[in-house]
Amino acid sequence: AATTGAFPLTFSLTPSTMARTRAEREEILADPGFGKKFTDHMVSIDWTVEEGWHDARVIPYGPLQLDPASSVLHYGQEIFEGLKAYRHADGSIWTFRPEKNADRLQRSARRLALPELSESDFIESIRQMIAVDGDWVPSDHETSLYLRPFMIANESFLGVRAAHKVGYYVIASPAGAYFANGVAPIKIWLSTEYARAGRGGTGAAKCGGNYAASLLPQMQAYDNDCAQVLFLDGETGSHIDELGGMNVFFVYGTDTLVTPRLTGTILEGVTRDSIIQLARDRGLTVEERDVTLDDWRDGIASGAITEVFACGTAAVVTPISQLKGPGGLAIGDADAPAGTITMALRQELTDIQYGLLPDRHGWLTRL
Ligand code: PMP
Repeated sequence: AATTGAFPLTFSLTPSTMARTRAEREEILADPGFGKKFTDHMVSIDWTVEEGWHDARVIPYGPLQLDPASSVLHYGQEIFEGLKAYRHADGSIWTFRPEKNADRLQRSARRLALPELSESDFIESIRQMIAVDGDWVPSDHETSLYLRPFMIANESFLGVRAAHKVGYYVIASPAGAYFANGVAPIKIWLSTEYARAGRGGTGAAKCGGNYAASLLPQMQAYDNDCAQVLFLDGETGSHIDELGGMNVFFVYGTDTLVTPRLTGTILEGVTRDSIIQLARDRGLTVEERDVTLDDWRDGIASGAITEVFACGTAAVVTPISQLKGPGGLAIGDADAPAGTITMALRQELTDIQYGLLPDRHGWLTRL
């Protein structure tokens, strides 16, 4: 049922009559937090089996009207993406590797039996958001406008099959600096009881259900003073997969990066891919391979592992000081400072995103 419109979509605009004033907007942008406030407009595109993608529009931000029988509400046929718009010093607005998000949304769509949106329509939907709500992109250090494209099955039908009616939306939320007081290493919690993915499952798709299943272990992480949960692969229960919302890297010595290989159960992070490239550019060796819990324990004990970090769009790169788990498990020193390779990669990536370094890989798209 994957219909990619043969022609680029054209968007209509219905301006919001309730748009916030400049003063109201600036008050929000002064302290936006994350994911709490939204801009004045949203993108909405409809899809049906008969018509494919149609009726692309930019409309006032507001509640969706959903029939209570909409399949997304019952069977969770939903996928989403997350990317950011960055304001450069000259006021221009850019986004980072949006074609990777477009591609991942297509792969998620295939796995969830949803229709694919073309890369050009995806990027145009982002452009449309910025065209109408570009003033919502903040300019302070390490702030951004977080863009959340998502797709839901909204056919009113209780049968269990791929929906014949789907909606795609983009909403946008100003985001403050993730680490307002300097980058702070986090502790993470090992979930021994729960897995987020299994062989043949949806681990490599960005679908809501994966996150619903991660909430209980995430609560256990918070209860144990940890910021994120670490999942092992569901099959052997010994390989490191990823965190609830980030990929994970290990630095061996001063010249090698190791990250779990993509097995189909791990989300293929855009940040992960970018870090691998930047590390190789620096002459570091990067290995994508299996990493076990024992590798982590032994590597810390012997000193072979010198740094551990997580990465993802929201927090970019976050140092990990310690892995905690049931039964008093503790690997690494909770007070360990951020590693130098971790921080150098983080700085380089954010400098590229904010236009402070040349975009040598052509990763930026002007919006
Ligand atoms: N893994 C999971 C489970 C995630 O939700 C995310 C965030 N999208 C990532 C990894 C990192 O992906 P990205 O670098 O594309 O944000």
